[in-house]
Amino acid sequence: MLIELDRVSKTYNQGLPNEVAAVREVTLAIADNAMTCLRGASGCGKSTLLAIIGCVFQPTSGRVTVAGKQLARLPDRFLALHRRQYIGFIFQRFNVLPALTVQENIVLPLIPLGLTPQQMRERAGILMERFGIVHRRAFPAGQISGGELQRVAIARALVNDPPLILADEPTAHLDSRLSNEFMDCLAELKAAGKTIILTSHDPLVTGHRAVDQVIDMQDGRIHVS
Ligand code: ADP
Ligand code: MG
Repeated sequence: MLIELDRVSKTYNQGLPNEVAAVREVTLAIADNAMTCLRGASGCGKSTLLAIIGCVFQPTSGRVTVAGKQLARLPDRFLALHRRQYIGFIFQRFNVLPALTVQENIVLPLIPLGLTPQQMRERAGILMERFGIVHRRAFPAGQISGGELQRVAIARALVNDPPLILADEPTAHLDSRLSNEFMDCLAELKAAGKTIILTSHDPLVTGHRAVDQVIDMQDGRIHVS
């Protein structure tokens, strides 16, 4: 699933006094079955670019093509459908809901897809087994350890079996041991055929052996190295 960006820009609050050109004329191809890292100082536009790739919102201008489909012209509901089927998100701080159980957190992305409760339990069960958290199935996510939380976030990103995984500064709140574990887990996912795009300025991430390409960003623009 090749991803191509052609002169993609995103301006927040366009035409207003607080206008921000967050991403400027980015042209980029992201290889299939590779791990790509967007690197740069805070505010350089990494999260905005990731959100565009992840179909969270449309760019202000430019074209995004995924597997030959041009996304920039799709109505929002198709964009949402594309996101649910093709993309798994791992957020900074993981956005795991503390009052829900581990299993309930993992199945959240499946709810709009209309699976039966039985199907949801099965899919979650396979992932909880794989990541060693099945004994935490019924625990509120607010009561599990940091390492377990991280595996819940990964399981949730995988539950819709997406070809593309996006992670926004996933190690920002992890110690070095958990950061390495997290990267090794992404490396396994890449080996299993996933395409992964992350943002980070953590050397443990950008220097990891499984990272194929680092793209430096500055002021909304990119420099491919
Ligand atoms: P990074 O992830 O590299 O820190 P961001 O993509 O979050 O960068 O932000 C890029 C620029 O866009 C920053 O100047 C930020 O303040 C601004 N920005 C981000 N989100 C919004 C928003 N929702 N509304 C207005 N400005 C925003
Ligand atoms: Mg960011």
